[in-house]
Amino acid sequence: MSDVSNPGPVEPCSADPASGARLEPLPGRASDLMGLPIRRLLPTRGRRMIGPWCFLDGFGPRSFASGKPMDVAPHPHIGLQTVSWLLAGEILHRDSTGATGVGCPGVLNLMTSGRGIAHSEETPEAHTGALHGVQLWVALPEASRHVEPEFEQHEARVVAEDHGARARLVMGELAGTRSPATAHSPLCAVELELAAGARLVLPLEPGFEHALLPLAGDVRVADAPLAVETLYDLGTGRRELCVNGGERPGRALLIGGAPFGERIVMWWNFVARDADEIVAAREAWQRGERFGEVAGYPGDRLPAPEVLARPAPR
Ligand code: MN
Repeated sequence: MSDVSNPGPVEPCSADPASGARLEPLPGRASDLMGLPIRRLLPTRGRRMIGPWCFLDGFGPRSFASGKPMDVAPHPHIGLQTVSWLLAGEILHRDSTGATGVGCPGVLNLMTSGRGIAHSEETPEAHTGALHGVQLWVALPEASRHVEPEFEQHEARVVAEDHGARARLVMGELAGTRSPATAHSPLCAVELELAAGARLVLPLEPGFEHALLPLAGDVRVADAPLAVETLYDLGTGRRELCVNGGERPGRALLIGGAPFGERIVMWWNFVARDADEIVAAREAWQRGERFGEVAGYPGDRLPAPEVLARPAPR
């Protein structure tokens, strides 16, 4: 994924909300990724991060008979991991480490940019004609943000199940189970599948910030119905979360993590600590240095936008 909205200066972060549990919808906004309609759910007004999660885009559900609804040409990243999770369809990933992989439902595609990577994401020639999913970015902490770039795929594991409700661990830790996917700070990403009327009580890490994204159908928290494609801030201090399906089945994604505690600068596809790092990464990309080549993508790479103002730390 590439942030193709015209990036201006990063707005100063509003004060972190007070600690404590809440169930508060965050204002997302409609955007566009190379012609594919997307919903930008993080960062958003009033909330920049949930733990280390600093970016969340939702796309689809969409059906298509021809063409490539997902087609993001090679572009660079620094200082983050991209977490791609599909409910339907396929995405072909290629990157400058030479890795390629087709993401499909149930399998995490995880790319660690570390000091720098370039990648492309496109609908493969062999596809099911569907596309529905999310992409998230995890900010890397200081100790890990210059690591070597890497690409991994991991099947999600069932961590909780109860009468038609199922939780699958996508990344991180939940209920004493740890995903083999490489994580550089304490976090979790969990997909929930809820049959109509089904109920699941998930144990949470009370020190984490959590948020819940209903992706389809009828998803409720302690019987309170939620809107799909809206990210709900759950706050902190929760030891458990009761999620249930309503009259119809539902699917949702739970994310959480320890409060990040480091000021970051986010601009275009870069997560850094100051404007000089951003400008240096942009210039290196424009010169064709530092990030390597993405082999096999049928087209040109994405040019970086102009730096309109020096991005401010937050
Ligand atoms: Mn990307």
